[in-house]
Amino acid sequence: MRRQVSLEEISDGHLYGLNDMVKADCGGCRGCSACCRGMGSSIVLDPLDVFRLTKNLGKTFEELVSGPLELGVADGLILPSIRMKGQGEACSFLDNDGRCQVHAFRPGICRIFPLGRYYENGGFSYFLQIHECRKENRTKVKVKKWIDTPEPKRYDQYICNWHYFLEEMEAKADGDAGQDGAVRKRICMDVLTRFYASPYEAEGEDMEGFFQEFDERLKAAREALR
Ligand code: SF4
Ligand code: SF4
Repeated sequence: MRRQVSLEEISDGHLYGLNDMVKADCGGCRGCSACCRGMGSSIVLDPLDVFRLTKNLGKTFEELVSGPLELGVADGLILPSIRMKGQGEACSFLDNDGRCQVHAFRPGICRIFPLGRYYENGGFSYFLQIHECRKENRTKVKVKKWIDTPEPKRYDQYICNWHYFLEEMEAKADGDAGQDGAVRKRICMDVLTRFYASPYEAEGEDMEGFFQEFDERLKAAREALR
């Protein structure tokens, strides 16, 4: 989800790549679960997040959306996010002891936190969100170690492809203002069905298999939504 704030307000002023060291390591959180609560619908999931959740939990996208996930409008499109629940507005995957029940296959936004992504010129860099993590005295860690994702370069490429595809689709939907939103509806439905609801054949740990299927779907979506 895009935020309308300046980088200076929310970061330490640096942009980071995979091989840079950044003060993001909160030492395993040690009983803190502050950033897993009260996040509204801001933990928006990309297709890889949902692929991992469906495969590891053995549930369909529809089952997840009627449970721990919800659908909502994000940047003009309808996308899934994690549902917050209860009085404390806790993430649906947080257990009573404040631990993440899906830690091994948690979503990308959770993996990189307190880092964020800054998109420009067809690519993106990581940045450190200085007001988000409550832990003081965080230590330095290499970005690619922190994001804890196999094939980090391939992953970054995937993130870029997905982000800029969504931007294209948003622009296309915005251009539809005079047509009763028919184009926007079609795009929203196509994106949800094609990238989230249609199961991927790859096994849960097969990232390359997922990326290949995703790339094929991306190409087909661009042709279908031209
Ligand atoms: S998925 Fe896990 S890490 Fe992410 S917000 Fe929920 S409990 Fe926290
Ligand atoms: S606020 Fe920081 S220390 Fe607390 S759970 Fe989130 S990342 Fe961990």
